[in-house]
Amino acid sequence: MYAINHAATALLLKKKEPKLPLFPLLVSVQLVEVLWVLFNYLGWEHFSISGGSVHLDYLPYSHSIFSGVVAAAVSFCVINWGYKNRKLAFAFAIGVVSHVIIDMVFHEKDIQLSPFSATPVLGFGIIDHPVLNFIIEFAYGIFCWWYFKGSRALLWVIIMFNVIDLPIMLAHGDALTPFMHYPFLLPTVILFQILITWYFVYRYASLRSEARQAINN
Ligand SMILES: [Zn+2]
Repeated sequence: MYAINHAATALLLKKKEPKLPLFPLLVSVQLVEVLWVLFNYLGWEHFSISGGSVHLDYLPYSHSIFSGVVAAAVSFCVINWGYKNRKLAFAFAIGVVSHVIIDMVFHEKDIQLSPFSATPVLGFGIIDHPVLNFIIEFAYGIFCWWYFKGSRALLWVIIMFNVIDLPIMLAHGDALTPFMHYPFLLPTVILFQILITWYFVYRYASLRSEARQAINN
């Protein structure tokens, strides 16, 4: 799943627990992806390009079921005992796990149960059908906005970033050559997407809650 729709998942958490700050929730749903970027820079995980498309061959440390659960548990402990905020700890942990579960729906068979077991690998492979991928992600992003009762500006943010993702989803063949020659390029593009979607979703989702608070006051 692309950055904007992972970010949209934070809206579901925020709606459930409106008093929690949005930014840590946005971090939670992308923690696994930030680790993926970091591990790719470090060379611990890698992707490949073959048959004209990108394959996320090796990502057992950031994107396995086991590491998702461990990252969620560690986050829970740090926030619960370190910051004494059980509600945020719980929501953050759900956000972390949501990433792996959602990716399992979209990824090719590349999500391991744990870093210690090469098989089985999970993934429904929707990513291999770019138009279907676009429609499902787009519908999911809109659903999160609708559930959150976001502003029109936030809806535009979700629409625009989904539309921008479409050419990336459709990219194949020669369009991917730069990513082959410069392995740091793909993680950097993803990192940039994470940061920019954090910014826009935070900005336009917060505006809404501030406006609502003003009305309530
Ligand atoms: Zn991911």
